[in-house]
Amino acid sequence: MAIRELKVCLLGDTGVGKSSIVCRFVQDHFDHNISPTIGASFLTKTVPCGHELHKFLIWDTAGQERFHSLAPMYYRGSAAAVIVYDITKLTLKKWVKELKEHGPEDIVVAIAGNKNDLGDIREVPMKEAKDFAESIAAIFMETSARNAVNVEELFQKISKQIPPLENPDLD
Ligand code: GDP
Repeated sequence: MAIRELKVCLLGDTGVGKSSIVCRFVQDHFDHNISPTIGASFLTKTVPCGHELHKFLIWDTAGQERFHSLAPMYYRGSAAAVIVYDITKLTLKKWVKELKEHGPEDIVVAIAGNKNDLGDIREVPMKEAKDFAESIAAIFMETSARNAVNVEELFQKISKQIPPLENPDLD
């Protein structure tokens, strides 16, 4: 089976749960005292998709705001980007703008409204975010890294949206 390495970059404000989503996806674990990412962290996970194996190379960078000049390098060669926001705070659109300015044109975009276990103090209505995601042809899911809601599913949707190789090695 062909293995494809797919770079995925995570975007979003500090504290929205980017590292927690990666930790849930790769290690199926939630760390209540997760320490802030310093610089960039890098984790991988391989999932089957049709006749291919997708090896996600997931880049999680702390406070991209501070490293703005590095943005083009961060996005270069990415097959997909996950823009994470926290449903209790609206911090989404500036990251879409950022990705449009600096990301590859054919990148698969996914939007994750994280911390959906905090519905009681929600500020962002799901429909509003979903409609916005649809308007830019992005995948949309509300997630909870804490309760393992929709994290695996988010990456499955990304996987399905990556066009298959034309001549996959079917051995
Ligand atoms: P990052 O800065 O975007 O990488 O965010 P972190 O992954 O470091 O998470 C920031 C804070 O949000 C931490 O205190 C996490 O425990 C918390 N957090 C992350 N995901 C969730 C979630 O799904 N639900 C709740 N309630 N808290 C979360």
